[in-house]
Amino acid sequence: MNTTPLRLLIHGASGRMGQALQRLGSEADSGCDVVAAVSRKVDARVLEGIPQFAASELHGVPEFDVAIDFSLPQAFDAILGLCVARRVALVSGTTGLSDAQKAALDAASVLIPLSWASNFSLGVAVLHTLVERAAQALPGWDCDIVEAHHTRKLDAPSGTALTLGEAAQAGGAAPHYASLRAGDIVGEHLVQFTGMGERIELVHRASNRDIFARGALHAARRLHGRAPGRYRVADLL
Ligand code: NAD
Repeated sequence: MNTTPLRLLIHGASGRMGQALQRLGSEADSGCDVVAAVSRKVDARVLEGIPQFAASELHGVPEFDVAIDFSLPQAFDAILGLCVARRVALVSGTTGLSDAQKAALDAASVLIPLSWASNFSLGVAVLHTLVERAAQALPGWDCDIVEAHHTRKLDAPSGTALTLGEAAQAGGAAPHYASLRAGDIVGEHLVQFTGMGERIELVHRASNRDIFARGALHAARRLHGRAPGRYRVADLL
């Protein structure tokens, strides 16, 4: 059995998700060694003992096996570029990417293994399947996706709502979206199918960011050593 720890770069390390990744990626049984924590600037929220770098120093980071990126769209091009230049795997959960950035992900997947997902929780991976099946079974019903997040979230509708919408469309529905921004809500998604006199509600509630961080760490371990390509969360479970 290979017991060499996976050398991780965390991009967006000082953020809400980055802090969860640092903590869980540093646990003794994580199978990981966090060799670089990159944030917009050097930040006190990076754990002691983890080498940290500002965005301007990105190209000077030591060798790593997989980058995990939970940053912002304006930071995304730099980490994708670094992973392609060094031919290493990328796991990214950054949402709000432009169409050009999504196309760049596709182009990069010819050269490196990568997994981008709007949501790295197991529950949402299952919810996608349920939504597509419900949409197929309920032609002509209204489909509405309501998402709620904390007030500091920048993009709306959430990346998860849009991906759930794609699943609904794949099943033949035409979803509408609504977004709520309130307090410290980690993330809630309701997919509602409404017919005449009846309604089905499929709901996922995240109460803790660790579910996304654990999913991304799991994806990183499973992605390392794979052939170039784009992998979905479901491919890496
Ligand atoms: P946050 O605002 O708390 O953190 C953003 C991080 O990005 C910070 O560390 C900041 O320093 C860093 N950053 C900003 N500009 C940078 C630059 N130019 N170079 C390098 N780093 C830079 O955000 P958050 O709540 O941690 O969320 C991060 C992203 O992850 C968002 O897009 C959010 O929607 C997404 N998210 C995805 C999932 C998922 O499962 N896919 C779950 C939660 C959040």
